Amino acid sequence: MLSARQVVAVIGYPLKHSLSPVFQQAAFDAYRLPVTYEAWEVPPASLAAVLTRVRQSDCLGINITIPHKEAVIPYLDYLDDLVRQVGAVNTVVNRSGVLWGYNTDGPGFLRALAEVGVSPAGQVVLVVGAGGAARAVVCALARAGAERVLIANRTPERARALVALAAGLGQAAVVVPWEPAALVAAGQQAGLIVNCTSVGLRHTPTEAASPLPAAALHPDALVYDLIYNPAETVLLRQARERGARTLNGLSMLLYQGALAFELWTGRPAPVETMRACLEAALARRG
Ligand code: NDP
Repeated sequence: MLSARQVVAVIGYPLKHSLSPVFQQAAFDAYRLPVTYEAWEVPPASLAAVLTRVRQSDCLGINITIPHKEAVIPYLDYLDDLVRQVGAVNTVVNRSGVLWGYNTDGPGFLRALAEVGVSPAGQVVLVVGAGGAARAVVCALARAGAERVLIANRTPERARALVALAAGLGQAAVVVPWEPAALVAAGQQAGLIVNCTSVGLRHTPTEAASPLPAAALHPDALVYDLIYNPAETVLLRQARERGARTLNGLSMLLYQGALAFELWTGRPAPVETMRACLEAALARRG
């Protein structure tokens, strides 16, 4: 039971648009826990000092976002197995001055799929992208028992590295060449198509673009875009127009946060309260 006021924070640099303070605070408030969730903008040079602060008894832990997800690892005492696989931490828990690192992005992705009755087990999955989010997704797919993962990325070396990571986890995976005919063929084979690139993100030069040719999309696929702003990217619109089921990244954001909340508090996350807060915050942003 918490008595004195505690703090939890998200750290990143820059840290303009994080939605974590809004929906995590709502979760603590729903339980009337004396916890304040803050946003700490931490330049790389200050990372060590901030981790010393996190060890203090009034700090339950932190969320970590770009660019610290990998750099934080040397400052932690214990790493969850998934962190060792993905090579990145998004949640730290302070247990009596001992810092534990977790990655809830991949499990959050799986919970988001489970919520709509989808399991990657036995499925051919097309993953587009090979950055940090793609690594978390591919490790989650391996854990969930995907049949085969097809990985397409603009920079082929990064796709090859991700295929090697998957192979190390016993997951069958192949590189898909970054060219229209190969992307179409891969999409047509896949029951689940996941966009892990930033193509389509609001307020970027690719906002009006899709990472895949429309012909890669088909009515038997679930198309999951990790992007949640805009709520419907060009990829998701084209997928919907072609009869596919579509889902945006809001649910992954929600569930990675819900899992972090459960690690800090040991209590079930008030998911519907958190979802309502997220949706309202995004609606305010337009
Ligand atoms: P990274 O910077 O690590 O990776 C970016 C990826 O996008 C790379 O594969 C990169 O390809 C690709 N990419 C960028 N621009 C282009 C382009 N013009 N054409 C083709 N490919 C491009 O970012 P993250 O992996 O951390 O994040 C990726 C996306 O996922 C972001 O939009 C982020 O907001 C979202 N995300 C959502 C989460 C959620 O909870 N819903 C959680 C985490 C991320 P290349 O290797 O060739 O550069």
